[in-house]
Amino acid sequence: MIYESIIIGRGLIGSAAAKYISRSQKNVAIIGPDETTALQQQIVFASHYDRARIQRIVGKDSVETLLNLQSALQHSLLENESKINYHTKEGCLLVTPDATDFDLDHFSEEAKKFDVNYQIFENSDQLKTFNSYFHFPGSAKGIYETSPSGHINPRLLIKAQLEVFKKNGGEVFNNTIKEIIYQNDAIKITCIDDEIFYAKKVLLAPGSFVNFLNLLKNKLVLKVKSETTIWVKVNEQEAHRLSSLPPLLYKINEPEIQDIYLIRPLKYPDGNFYLKMGANLPNDIYFKSLPEIQEWFKNGHKNDNRPVLEKALKSLLPSLSIEEIHEKRCIVCYTKHGKPYIGPIEKGLFVAAGGNGYAAMSSDALGKIAATVLLENKFPTEFSSKDFEPVFETEAV
Ligand SMILES: Cc1cc2nc3c(=O)[nH]c(=O)nc-3n(C[C@H](O)[C@H](O)[C@H](O)COP(=O)(O)OP(=O)(O)OC[C@H]3O[C@@H](n4cnc5c(N)ncnc54)[C@H](O)[C@@H]3O)c2cc1C
Repeated sequence: MIYESIIIGRGLIGSAAAKYISRSQKNVAIIGPDETTALQQQIVFASHYDRARIQRIVGKDSVETLLNLQSALQHSLLENESKINYHTKEGCLLVTPDATDFDLDHFSEEAKKFDVNYQIFENSDQLKTFNSYFHFPGSAKGIYETSPSGHINPRLLIKAQLEVFKKNGGEVFNNTIKEIIYQNDAIKITCIDDEIFYAKKVLLAPGSFVNFLNLLKNKLVLKVKSETTIWVKVNEQEAHRLSSLPPLLYKINEPEIQDIYLIRPLKYPDGNFYLKMGANLPNDIYFKSLPEIQEWFKNGHKNDNRPVLEKALKSLLPSLSIEEIHEKRCIVCYTKHGKPYIGPIEKGLFVAAGGNGYAAMSSDALGKIAATVLLENKFPTEFSSKDFEPVFETEAV
């Protein structure tokens, strides 16, 4: 049997693309390991094994803002269609320790253009009146974006996308792909257990793993980086006390820590409440090979990053009552131009990968673009192929 289209990667972008493709095509499948299988097999991993991702709207340019906005506007529709709630609209707070890193003019212009509501805080006193739990330096400035900013549960977002995909007749397979080759008029997809699929069209959406195994002949220019978060266990009372904390993006830029993100204590599948915080750190590893990544997920760092993250957390939330802290490993990847790579690669083969650390919030729109390119061979009119052009290693020298 030859599928019309197969999507490789059951992550945030792949599941969104699958939903949109299944609206127009019959005989569509998505293949990727589910979380339990991936963690058991330890071949490929993902950026979505988590409970919370920040949703904001204003991005670094209008393309990013439009992607975020289009995605955010889909949440309630998808929640209704799938009967799965994954989006919470508590707003999002963006803070810089001083004015240097703040382009308020850009923010105001974007917010006006896209009709985003926000509130500005000129100093730490004003920030304190907004939320008394956070502690920022006196010179700090902040912007609070209101709903639909907030946070999303990435596991449930994927589940919701795939519910709709399945309702539309799409098939979901729990497997990992090791090779893609052309055979006769079809694309042959071989899984690690040697199961074989054929498709007329294939969308590669395996996130940070796109250059590994034999998925691509020409490798994409992609920086793949380790990402460490701390999960801070608190009791239910403490979680309740801090329930007004909005998701925070703190543009700190110190030698030992940059770009903190923090999400208030939420209930996780193990029944406990964890506050989550992550940042860019000097210890972060830029991976060159799949075995290095596998080693990172299995044994990486072992608490090396914890002291610096813990120190920053205690400075931000001095009153936090902590029961336990542990480190969790994740992965992100960065493209050459800072936007995901979306586009055709070879006959019938397409790519949508390269989240740049921010593609959970825009994944629905990214999936829609990838679906449009695969189905209609063109970009939606509001986007340009140039912004998402895949850059290959051979071209980049
Ligand atoms: C700690 C952390 C915090 C983050 N916080 C935010 C945030 O607050 N807001 C935000 O917008 N973004 C955030 N991100 C980034 C966001 O999660 C990613 O940009 C997003 O998940 C990228 O989507 P993707 O579909 O490209 O990749 P993924 O979501 O990683 O999905 C790729 C899928 O492909 C599968 N796969 C890989 N290789 C193969 C193969 N060979 N065969 C089959 N399947 C394969 C993987 O198992 C995975 O399921 C964060 C990331 C991390 C790690």
